[in-house]
Amino acid sequence: MSENGFFGSFGGRYTAEVLRRPLETLEEEFRCAIADEGFQADLAAFHCDYIGRPTPLLPARNASAELGGADIYIKLEGLANTGAHKINNAAGQALLARRMGKSRIIAETGAGQHGMATAAACARLGLDCVVYMGEEDIRRQQPNIYWMELFGAEVRPVRTGSRTLKDAVNAALRDWAASWSDTHYLLGSALGPAPFPDMVREFQAVIGRETQSRFADLGVLPDALIACVGGGSNAIGFFEPWIAANRPLLVGAEAGGRGAGRGNNAARMGGEGSVSVVQGYKSLFLTDEDGQLLPTHSISAGLDYAGIGPQLAHLGETGRIRFVSVRDDEALAALKFFARTEGLIFAMESAHAGAAAIKLAQELGRGKTIAVNMSGRGDKDIFITAAALDGAAWREFLRSESELESH
Ligand SMILES: *Cc1c(COP(=O)(O)O)cnc(C)c1O
Repeated sequence: MSENGFFGSFGGRYTAEVLRRPLETLEEEFRCAIADEGFQADLAAFHCDYIGRPTPLLPARNASAELGGADIYIKLEGLANTGAHKINNAAGQALLARRMGKSRIIAETGAGQHGMATAAACARLGLDCVVYMGEEDIRRQQPNIYWMELFGAEVRPVRTGSRTLKDAVNAALRDWAASWSDTHYLLGSALGPAPFPDMVREFQAVIGRETQSRFADLGVLPDALIACVGGGSNAIGFFEPWIAANRPLLVGAEAGGRGAGRGNNAARMGGEGSVSVVQGYKSLFLTDEDGQLLPTHSISAGLDYAGIGPQLAHLGETGRIRFVSVRDDEALAALKFFARTEGLIFAMESAHAGAAAIKLAQELGRGKTIAVNMSGRGDKDIFITAAALDGAAWREFLRSESELESH
């Protein structure tokens, strides 16, 4: 847990006065809920019946043998219903909202993955759902809009600023300031004003707790854990049971994009991030001289964000988490490697962790154990991966499909 919302010097609650009451109330309600057996039973039932938990921890024997280094285990979070870890947080917060007597949920979404998980949880629990999404993101992420609307959510286009994720967050905060008596703001990663970083970590910690208990059953102690880091929710949830100890080694893989240089990546911990207060919390952000957020690049939509959760920034600063940056081409190579050796399709985000695992397995060598979190499955990325790996045939297929449509 944070201390009064802070992790070292990061975190806090830097918001407009109108959001003080809703955030304080949310914090109290969250603390009561997680201490309440009834709430925990509802959450456990949702995990088991809807999400399909526990997700497997796969011993990746073929991949490990081919690399000739440490044994790699893969936490198959991509097998969670809706295809990624985001549903863990959406389910936890939606159940909390229902317990608080709220009938309406709002959320921000960038690539659409968090919007989709929120819309799914709301469909399941019978809550109204409005998802704010930048107009530019809507244009790029059509399939996820289709799923959100099928789940009964309203996707509201945001036409201010750069019309992307940060503008969607502002729109959601504006809505919440006026609507909080009947509305919960379901924030999607381990960031934002307190209590969101503590709350999101707690709801994602199921990933780490299951991994820890599976390793205990197997009688194995992992030497390193690896996860990709966008805002940081899958990483902090995966690492949670081990943070207070000094081992295993914890590794966060950031988006190295096209390589070094402004606008080419989203590597905030690689030395280019600077301390700033943005959207209600203090952390490390990629900014220009005037403190404006810089545009970022990554092949994976989910890692393409200028800020990082405050607890991760703190644990990076203290050295508890080692951050590495993984380029687009390395992530694509890892996607191919685990597909060929293990029959798995990593999400492009998760493939960054996969690439870091390939390197670290060779570095640590035989007799050591590494666990990597496959935060999502890669079906959603087919428009990106097929175009990158099999360009001509894929374009021909898309052409023939659209011609069919016009006949
Ligand atoms: C959104 C997303 C991420 C990045 O978000 P975190 O909050 O850093 O976990 C990673 N993997 C997948 C599959 C995602 O959808």
